[in-house]
Order: sequence, then structure tokens, then C-alpha cells
Amino acid sequence: MDGSGEMTGDSTRCVHSSLDPEVTTGSVHTPIFQTSTYVQKDFSEHLGYEYARGDNPTRNALQRALAEMESPHQEAYGFCFGSGMAAITTISQMLKQGDHVIACDDLYGGTVRLFDQIASRFGIETSYSPLKSGDLGKLVRENSKILWLESPTNPLLTVHDLKALATEAKEHGLIVVVDSTFATPILQRPFELGADIIVHSTTKYIGGHSDVIGGCLITQSKELAEKISFLQNAVGAVPAPMDCFLILRGLRTLALRMNRHCESAQVLAERLQDNEKVTRLFYPGLKSHPTHEIAQRQMKAFGGMISLEVKGGEAGARKFAAQLKLFATAESLGGIESLINHPWTMTHAAIPEKQRYDAGMTPGLIRLSVGIEDMEDLWQDLVTALETL
Ligand SMILES: *Cc1c(COP(=O)(O)O)cnc(C)c1O
Repeated sequence: MDGSGEMTGDSTRCVHSSLDPEVTTGSVHTPIFQTSTYVQKDFSEHLGYEYARGDNPTRNALQRALAEMESPHQEAYGFCFGSGMAAITTISQMLKQGDHVIACDDLYGGTVRLFDQIASRFGIETSYSPLKSGDLGKLVRENSKILWLESPTNPLLTVHDLKALATEAKEHGLIVVVDSTFATPILQRPFELGADIIVHSTTKYIGGHSDVIGGCLITQSKELAEKISFLQNAVGAVPAPMDCFLILRGLRTLALRMNRHCESAQVLAERLQDNEKVTRLFYPGLKSHPTHEIAQRQMKAFGGMISLEVKGGEAGARKFAAQLKLFATAESLGGIESLINHPWTMTHAAIPEKQRYDAGMTPGLIRLSVGIEDMEDLWQDLVTALETL
């Protein structure tokens, strides 16, 4: 379906992006093309599909839908990978020995591990900074190639001023990458703020049901798209057709789910703010959040993630998590079900301790992924557990 102009609403785009009836049967939804290769009429004479590492119709439908979600009014190119990390790795493979990456310091643990323990072995250097806007000039080196941003960040939910940072980065000729996993295409539009490449772990909100691992890269630049397309095929970190089908099915309800995640998280955060057992609280939708104003300007709503500390520090956090009945203790986020995570020992354990403290993380911090259950049930669960502290 032609995405320009007529499909303006988020829910409509979620449902209709790349929703073309399948040509041989008229199947409304794209089938799972479980194949590795395609017949050729003559040598190199085919219907556009040669080998499934290079392209697959189920993957292709998902790629087009994601590109349309992030860029409804301008042509864009989507690329899917076997995980968010595979997508991020593919960007690192656009670099060469001696190149330098500037990244925000409150970053997904796996991204830090990749840059520090793997890309570093190939001579790619990464510096981390809180990236207050105006700072970039001091961080840029002759060999700097990429500005790596995540917004909102994980786990402290800092919202970076993407427009200000991207504008500054362009003056230094940097490629601006935005990991927009926590925001999804529903809550913010990084291309309109200056991003060159958008990253999502589709494992999270886009898949939305905690039943699949995936990642994607999206760009409006034809030149970058050619490089990513080459790497996607040459490196081969591609997703399976079944996984693409599941992620595409998740995308169809993304706008609906995000509304619910955001509405519930806002109310829960406001109530937690007034609870005396809560000692620190991070939610970009609260006036008390350090980057609330940027979030208000940049995002349509404030997301479904809340981070907090409770009375008793790490021991308190452990007791709190053990009391919860609706929030399962698990890694990951963005599924229909509520989850609780302990970044210090779980998602962010791979980051060196000093670096974690520097980024504002503490051993008492817990992160909630607010699911789509009834909000009052979630509140009862939280408040009952808080009372035991
Ligand atoms: C989960 C996550 C990733 C990594 O994605 P996987 O699908 O787990 O490989 C990257 N960035 C952010 C912000 C994430 O939350």
C-alpha cells in the first residue's frame, strides 16, 4: 500500500503498512515463506528473489512496514536481523580499524559489551559521555564517525535532545544512530530530528509478546541503505521467516498496545511518586524527571518503562520483587505482560562496575516494564509489595 499522505493515523499505519494481498492466493496477510531458495527460469533470470539470506518475502514485508512506520512521508529502507544485537553489530561493521564512536553513557548493556569487547578488538574505539548538548565539540576527534544515541535510555530513562545533538553531530560529519527501542515508531520520530539510522530491538515493543527475538535498522539515505544491504547479505545475521511473521503480527497492534502501556505507566508513576517506600523514581512523564521537558517536546507519550529504588536498597529491591505476583522477574521488556528487572545483576551486569556507577546506576535500582493488564490490578500488586518493606 502506498504509505504517503492518506494513512496518517498511527493505528492505521500499523495495520496497513505493507499489507499487500499475496499474489497467488489473495491471502490478506503475508504468509510465512519458509524457503531457502527460489527457482530461476534461466541462469540469473528470476522474480527478484535468488537466495533467502539475501531476501525473503516475509522479511521483505516486515522491512517495508517498519520503514513506513518510521518514515511515513519519505522513502526509507528497512533491514531486519536475527536480534537487536545483530542489527547493532551490522552498524559496527560499517566502520574500519581506527574509527571512533561517541556514545551516550547510559546505554543498553549489550551495546556497551559489543563496542568494548568485540569492536575494540578490530581497532574501533568508543567514548562514552552524558552528552549534554553543546558538549560534542570537545569529544569529537579526527577519526570520529558515529554518534550513538539511545533515547529514552536504559535503565534511567534519560531523554536526549535528539535534534540538538544531531544538528551538532552533522557539523562534524558524524552519522547519527538512534536506538529508539524504548520509544517505538509510535512515540517519537527520530528521522524528523536528524537521525541517519534508527535501530530497534523488535524483540521488545514491536514484537510485543515476548515470543520472538529480532532487530532492525532503518535509514532514509540511499547510500547508507546500500551499505547495510550489502552487509546484511554478506555477513548474514538475518532473521527466520517465522520470526519475521511474528514481529509483523506484533506490529499490527503496536499503536493500541503503546497507548495502554503509556497510560498505565503514567498513572502508576504518579502514584509511586507519593509512596514513602519509594526512594528514587525515574519516569519521563513526571515533572520531577531531569529530562521531562525534552520528553514533552520530543515524544508523543512517555513510554511504558519505570525505574525506581525502594526502601532498603538492594535487599529491599529483592524483597519487593519476590512479593510481586503480576510482575515476573525477567530480562527484556515491552511485552504484553508486566516484568521486573534488576539491571545491576541482570541486563547491565556486563558493564564494568565503575562505568555503571558513573552512568547513575546503583545496586538498588529496579526497572519495571508495565504490561497491558488492568492498571488497577498492577497498582494493587505494587502497593501490596511496597507495604511489606
Ligand atoms: C534489548 C535491547 C537491545 C538488544 O536487542 P536484542 O533483540 O536483545 O538483541 C538493544 N537496545 C536496546 C535499547 C534494548 O532494549
